[in-house]
Amino acid sequence: MTLKNLNSGARLRVAIIGGGPAGLGAAIEFATLPFVDWNLYEQASEIREIGAGISVQPTTWRLLEHLGAAENLKSNDFYRAADGHSVQHRNGRTGELLVSHPQKDIPKAHLHARTHRAKLQLALLKEVEQSHVRLSSRLVSVNQKASGKLVIKFQSGFEDEVDLLVGADGVRSVVRNFAFPDHRVGYTGKTSYRTIVSTEEIAKVNGVPDAVTFWHGPSSWLYTCPLGNGQFEVTTMTSEPDLQYEKVSWGQDATVEENAKHFKDFSPIVRAVVATPKEVKKYALFAGPRLDNVIARGSIALVGDASHRAGAGFALEDVFVLIQSIKWAHENSLTLADGLGLFNRVRGPHYKNLYGVLDEFVQTDAELRQSNLGFDDAVNVLVEKKWSKKFDWISAYDVGYYLLRFNEHI
Ligand SMILES: Cc1cc2nc3c(=O)[nH]c(=O)nc-3n(C[C@H](O)[C@H](O)[C@H](O)COP(=O)(O)OP(=O)(O)OC[C@H]3O[C@@H](n4cnc5c(N)ncnc54)[C@H](O)[C@@H]3O)c2cc1C
Repeated sequence: MTLKNLNSGARLRVAIIGGGPAGLGAAIEFATLPFVDWNLYEQASEIREIGAGISVQPTTWRLLEHLGAAENLKSNDFYRAADGHSVQHRNGRTGELLVSHPQKDIPKAHLHARTHRAKLQLALLKEVEQSHVRLSSRLVSVNQKASGKLVIKFQSGFEDEVDLLVGADGVRSVVRNFAFPDHRVGYTGKTSYRTIVSTEEIAKVNGVPDAVTFWHGPSSWLYTCPLGNGQFEVTTMTSEPDLQYEKVSWGQDATVEENAKHFKDFSPIVRAVVATPKEVKKYALFAGPRLDNVIARGSIALVGDASHRAGAGFALEDVFVLIQSIKWAHENSLTLADGLGLFNRVRGPHYKNLYGVLDEFVQTDAELRQSNLGFDDAVNVLVEKKWSKKFDWISAYDVGYYLLRFNEHI
């Protein structure tokens, strides 16, 4: 095992696997540590987005500022509601506005925004030192030497030897499989259909609000939101528990009808919006149980969806805490394992709290399935229980402030 203190003069060799928000954030952060030699390995032949829209919450804006990437998002690259709401919830059958979440005491620059994932990805990519990025590099195996160093092998036959392996390789992480071979992800029974249409196209449907809107049904929802640059997002979440997926099915072509069949009981506005796009992509949602640890073998750290499927904001928080922890170990002449231990102690409780919320959601869904509530009553219950203000801490969480209380974890 590598027990050398990080301040011994030897350089720390780091491999980041994956070029999504987590990997790009890690690349920007590691470049600030003068004692680190790092490379980012991405399986795709170019860094590109998957998906459609993405929310940039107050916590994510703070981290984007820290990474220097916030200024790469120009005001027409994203949408902010004119009246300052972060999100609105409507009954999908009647269209009635049930709740509008205002944003109080949040600096203007940190207000919720919705953008295209490509824009967020590009904003991060602009800050990454390109000479350290290795594209078309699919990690296929990891082995640990007696010294603690890791030998990583790529499909191309290329090999590297590193002190620290950062798994930022998403929900089907090869790094996580090596670190926690018994951990399994599976299809959650939920499938999302996503597409982008033009604002002109959506304007043809009367009654679509200029807002961040969930249109709820008892087991499916439609999400509508402008994204800036004349784009408009149409995303749905549907319950398809009978489908079988062996592998992650991400961004597959689907028919408009496959999606529309879930919205037959919804209002004419919802049905017209769902019918608007000419094509949609389908995303079967996979997830696994909470990991007790986000580190392994004194030399592996998992960040972003490779650790817990929680969102791009969580991915950037992971990366921030990881780098601060390694920096702390270096400044105090401690070992890499000490730094990783601190990272684990800061992120572990946070994920435990998050999974507590997700468990409550699962419980609410199960109760609703067993109840005989009609459409409107079921929607009232789920909006009250799943979109309550008590969960606002997730998007408002200030990881920087939390780290000021580092001592509690040391
Ligand atoms: C329907 C839906 C809506 C969402 N909406 C939001 C939202 O509003 N806000 C939000 O914050 N988040 C949202 N998310 C979640 C968000 O998209 C993810 O949490 C985020 O992309 C995680 O980033 P990541 O970098 O960890 O993983 P990914 O974005 O999955 O990136 C992983 C990267 O690793 C690469 N890779 C994988 N395996 C290998 C390998 N073996 N070797 C080399 N490279 C590899 C992949 O090619 C990819 O580039 C949503 C997700 C879904 C499914």
